[in-house]
Parts: sequence; C-alpha cells; structure tokens
Amino acid sequence: MAATTKNDATQALKELSYLAGALKAPRIIEAAARLADHARDAGWTHEEYLAAVLDREVAARNASGAQLRIRAAGFAARKTIEEFDWDAQPAVRQQVASLASGGFLTEARNVVLLGPPGTGKTHLATGLGIAAAHHGHRVLFATATDWVTRLSDAHRAGTLPQELARLRRYGLIIVDEVGYLPFEQDAANLFFQLVSSRYEHASLILTSNLPFSGWGGVFGDQAVAAAMIDRVVHHADVLTLKGASYRLRNRGIDTLPSIRTQDAAD
Ligand code: ADP
Ligand code: MG
Repeated sequence: MAATTKNDATQALKELSYLAGALKAPRIIEAAARLADHARDAGWTHEEYLAAVLDREVAARNASGAQLRIRAAGFAARKTIEEFDWDAQPAVRQQVASLASGGFLTEARNVVLLGPPGTGKTHLATGLGIAAAHHGHRVLFATATDWVTRLSDAHRAGTLPQELARLRRYGLIIVDEVGYLPFEQDAANLFFQLVSSRYEHASLILTSNLPFSGWGGVFGDQAVAAAMIDRVVHHADVLTLKGASYRLRNRGIDTLPSIRTQDAAD
C-alpha cells in the first residue's frame, strides 16, 4: 500500500514536471516537491498548497523581471534608497519613503530633486528608479544632454513622434543634471516635447543643481522654461536637498575645490 502511494506521488511529480515545463514555470517543480511534505505535515488545504507553490514562481518571476528592468534602465551607478544616509538630508526622509512605495508612478506624478552638487540628487533619483523597477515599471535613466541627443537623432530621422510614443510606455523616465549644460534652442524645444508628451501620462524624475529661477538660462528662453516648469510641477513632488557635498564630507573641505581654484585664478 505504502509502496503504491509512493509510486503515485512519484507519478504525480513527473506529471507536474511535464506541466511546469509546458508552462515555462520551472520553479513550480522544485516548489511542488519541496512543499508537498511540509503541506501534509502542516495540514494545509489543497488551496493553500497550490497558492504556496504558485507564489514561489510569481516571486521569482517578479524578482528576475525587476533585475532585467534595472539592467535595461541604464543607471550610471546602482544606488539604492536603503544605502542613503538620512543624517545628511533628514528633511526629505519621509517624502522619499512615500515616493519609494511607488504611488506617484500610477498617478503619473513627477519628482524634482533640486540642490547643490554632491547632495545626493542622482543617488535618490536612481534609488527611486530601482524601487520603480521592483514595482513592475519600466525605467530609463540618462542625463539631460543624453536625452537631447536621443531626441535630436529621432528628430533628424523623422521618427520623433514614434520615439515619444515608445518612451510613453516607460512608467518612469529620469532626466539627470538639467542645467548642467545650457540647451540650444532646438534642443530646448525637443526637451519641451518630451515633457509635454509625458504630461499626465507617465512620470518623470528631474534633477538639477539650479533652482527653477535659473532654468530660463538653461532653456535659452524664459517662456519655454516657464511652460515646461508649469507642466512638470503641476503634479509633482519637489524635494530640495541642502548642505555640503557628501563626496567631500569629513575632509575638512566646505566649498568645492573648483570654486576655490576659480577664485584664485581670478
Ligand atoms: P548629486 O547628484 O546631487 O551631485 P550624487 O547623488 O551623485 O550627488 O552623490 C555624490 C556621491 O555621494 C554619490 O556616490 C552618492 O552615492 C553619495 N551620496 C550623496 N549623498 C549621500 C547620502 N546622504 N548617503 C549616502 N551616500 C550619499
Ligand atoms: Mg548628480
């Protein structure tokens, strides 16, 4: 009798192995076998057992999906929210924690990170991007200059509308370093189109060393800058980071060496 039961179980697992293969869900085989004895001992219902087995497959798929999305995002460096030292920026801790839960993406809201160099703008933008990937959103990261290059290429090839439509399928686009270099007039217009095309459809995270009042200079035109800022901040969280550069902490340097060199050279 016992031998027959054992035989039946072996048969059933073989069958499962075939079915899991057909579903392209390989972890089901391993989870089904591993959880079966535990389920019997713990007196699980059939439904509980099935849910536990499928849960392993779903969790593994989500995790590998997130890793793929993180790799595809093109982050300059992998920095997570968990690695961020809040002692340096205590004022934004709560806000970042609530953004990391991903609600802003489903509402197509934006995030703007402002502050001086080295205060963690790129780190937090990347961390929020990684969190977004874990929540199942596709993410793309690039500097403002790189975005303009991509858009100009598409514009020149006559495929800008298609490119903007393709980008709208990404739940999150991160534009790092707005204002680091000023835009040419054409570039400013392309950038404006990117912002407009995502408005109320999908999220943007922008980072900048400049306050909004300095963006007119970046876009070469106060009117374009104002129209763009209007769309970006209409549904946005604006986080202002403060203080000295984290890169230079504990080094006894309060201002950036480049600024001092500049002073000395003058
Ligand atoms: P920004 O983009 O504002 O110029 P970054 O995000 O590039 O600054 O930060 C500069 C470096 O310092 C990065 O390596 C970043 O990971 C680190 N950093 C900045 N702020 C923090 C922080 N509060 N906790 C941990 N690392 C930080
Ligand atoms: Mg940066």
